[in-house]
Parts: sequence; C-alpha cells; structure tokens
Amino acid sequence: MEYQHQFVDGRECPWPLGKVVCVGRNYADHAAELNNPVPTVPLLFIKPASSVVPMAEPFRLPRDLGEVHFETELAVLIGDTLTDADEQQAAGAITGIGLGLDLTLRDLQSELKKAGHPWEKAKSFDGACPLSAFLAPQAVADLQDVQIRLTVNDEVRQDGNSSQMLNPVLPLISYISRFFTLNPGDVVLTGTPAGVGPVRPGDQLQVELVELLKVDTSAR
Ligand code: ZN
Repeated sequence: MEYQHQFVDGRECPWPLGKVVCVGRNYADHAAELNNPVPTVPLLFIKPASSVVPMAEPFRLPRDLGEVHFETELAVLIGDTLTDADEQQAAGAITGIGLGLDLTLRDLQSELKKAGHPWEKAKSFDGACPLSAFLAPQAVADLQDVQIRLTVNDEVRQDGNSSQMLNPVLPLISYISRFFTLNPGDVVLTGTPAGVGPVRPGDQLQVELVELLKVDTSAR
C-alpha cells in the first residue's frame, strides 16, 4: 500500500510526503553494537518517498536478500522550507512528531560497506520506511526526553531515550539543512537506540513513543 498523506493530530496534511532524511549512528550504544566507530559529524542518508509505507498496515519484507533489521526511530515531520537553518528556525519548522522504522537489509549493507559502495539498496528499497501518523509537536514536552520502545512478539527489543542522541533533534535538523533543503512534507529520522535485530514475516510489533504514541503492526 502506498503512503500518500501524513496525518498530524488526526488531520490530513496539505503536502504530499517528501524525502526522508536519516542519520546513522546517532546513539553511541547502537554504533557500538554494530562495531561501528562513533562519527564525529552526523552521518546522513536519504530514503525516498517511494520507500515509505504506513506503519499501521502489515508491511512486506523483501525476500531472499538476507536479514532485514528493524531500527526504531523518532520521526520529525517538517512543515516549512529550511536551507542553512539555525536551531530556532528548525524548531519553528517542526510540525509533527511520530515514529519511523528504518528497515535495513543488514547483510546487503555489510557487503556494500565492505566494497565501499553506497547503501541505497540496503536502506531505500520499496517498503524500507514504515511511518506512523504524527502528533502535534506540542504533545511532546521535551524532544530530548522521549522513551522509544520496540516490542517484537511480546519481547522488548529496543528501549532507549532521545536524551542519548549524539546529535539532538534541533542541531541535527540545522546540520541537515546545510546539505539538503528540507521542504514541507519531508521527514527526518533521528537514529536508533541499541537493540536492533532481524524482523521476520509473521512478527508482531508494537512501536512506541512511550506514553505518547503506540502503533501495533506486523511484518509479512
Ligand atoms: Zn537508522
């Protein structure tokens, strides 16, 4: 199913979905679990709008391409144009807070990394970015104190807090906008805490911003 419109606070957004700008290794404990060095500047990549599917619908995993890993992330919906923005402009452009799954073909990504090739096939394939509906930003008292949790088949697999981000949300958006203009309808995924692992067809997932937003879904 194609993802067409974001909903914020139950209302449909006027803009179509744009690109999804992602940051890798934004939590030190996640960088460590994959034996990656902690980057000194944000490591950015993009998932195109074609990779986005609604999180609340059962999402289809690629077949025969090795393990698909879940990465649970706080998602920020942008509602203004940002180029070379400072943190204050970044704050003013946030129009929704939600959840994203940065699905990753981990085996393929390892091969691509080893060969020094770009990651797109491992990160940007169709269905690689299930996104939730969004909360109005006022619903979140402190963006840097949000508990992000993933439960798979009744077992908690990821349970981190946005306070652990190496690049907090506003400096991150500001940094992104030096390279990529962010437009209304674009989304920023802010990195995943530790605990990533494989997701398989039939898995039942509960994805949460604790006490704020909860999505029950499944992989197929
Ligand atoms: Zn990620």
